[in-house]
Amino acid sequence: MSDKKSYGFTTTILHNDRRKTIEQGSLHKPVHTSVAFGYADARQLASVFQGKEPGFRYGRQGNPTVSALEDKISKMEDGVATLCFGTGMAAIGALFQALLRAGDQIVSSSFLFGNTNSLWQTVAVQGVDVAFVDATDVAQVEAAITDSTRMVFVETIANPRTQVADLARIGELCRARGILYVVDNTMTTPWLFRPRDVHAGLVVNSLTKSIGGHGIALGGALTDTGRFDWSAYPNIAQNFRKQASAAQGMAQLRAKALRDFGAALGPEAAHHIAVGAETLALRMERTCANALALATMLEADDRVSAVHYPGLASHPQNGIVKDLFRSGGSLLSFELREDIDPFDYLNRLKLAIPASNLGDNRTLVIPVAHTIFFEMGAERRASMGIAEGLIRVSVGIEDTDDLVGDFRQALDV
Ligand SMILES: *Cc1c(COP(=O)(O)O)cnc(C)c1O
Repeated sequence: MSDKKSYGFTTTILHNDRRKTIEQGSLHKPVHTSVAFGYADARQLASVFQGKEPGFRYGRQGNPTVSALEDKISKMEDGVATLCFGTGMAAIGALFQALLRAGDQIVSSSFLFGNTNSLWQTVAVQGVDVAFVDATDVAQVEAAITDSTRMVFVETIANPRTQVADLARIGELCRARGILYVVDNTMTTPWLFRPRDVHAGLVVNSLTKSIGGHGIALGGALTDTGRFDWSAYPNIAQNFRKQASAAQGMAQLRAKALRDFGAALGPEAAHHIAVGAETLALRMERTCANALALATMLEADDRVSAVHYPGLASHPQNGIVKDLFRSGGSLLSFELREDIDPFDYLNRLKLAIPASNLGDNRTLVIPVAHTIFFEMGAERRASMGIAEGLIRVSVGIEDTDDLVGDFRQALDV
């Protein structure tokens, strides 16, 4: 295949391994389990270590199977380089580990994945100030920026209440102020939205979720979109300044977060994720159509008191969804009328499974305040708009009628 023509999203991912070195005719990138990489010429080993020629040194810093996945994610995000990590949280932790210093400040959306929220609490006690803002309002982001602001961090569609950050305006703001803009794209995936289009410098993806899709492997990724000027970032150490400025951020992330901190993705997991990623677009089409059908049914039923789904016209940020995303995504949450016990309701579901994960092929449900957001307490939950009876649904690829019918029958007591 020639590299000249630009193919569509799925074609590109499906054929990407073949465009690189084909090993033994293998259509999939083989799973390379070797931790060490040997060289016939000792000088070549030295040259690889010094970064003078490409090559692998040790599994913690890079592996051929993982590197093939990184290349696919770069293509999906239209980015210049990607690093994979053992989990999505490791990818987010890498930001702190490699790019922040005591005395720095970050401005973060307060509508966050629960563990990211917890990580920011840790970061705060270690000397990085975290300013939490309502990221649906760019004025709040702007007001929180100080001379020590090193990054602005937002999620696209927040889990579980589905607030959508004002992605484009925050991007403009960060660009004007020269601040690194980091967007966690997990809930939208590069199929629905590319943060590069709103000037994000780094994109986070939890590969555990829709990209892998089958719920069989943990993984995370950071993609450099090429939009951020690393030569202006104050926290790049001298030895990484020797690189071309476009490569400095990823070079420091690879050394600090993979080599020194050890947050590497294993080759078997990378293989599972790469296979799953081949059908990302197909699965997202089905899952988003299912989510819209389910949200529409729930909203029309008077036994349901609130439905939060960005694809509904009633959602406060539906305009942003229409402008920027291909569709409203696979995540929704809802509240039942007060006389219906949410636990009894969940127990009446026959298909949807009470479980904590997102982006699985199967529809998963969870009572949020009692599980994933239990630890943070009622006050912080209230500030994030999380009602005590809120039910989160990660919509899967079941046949639409089966899925909608299941949630409808459970409303009948
Ligand atoms: C799940 C998730 C993460 C963390 O990913 P893991 O792979 O579970 O560590 C981060 N951000 C968002 C938005 C997520 O949904």
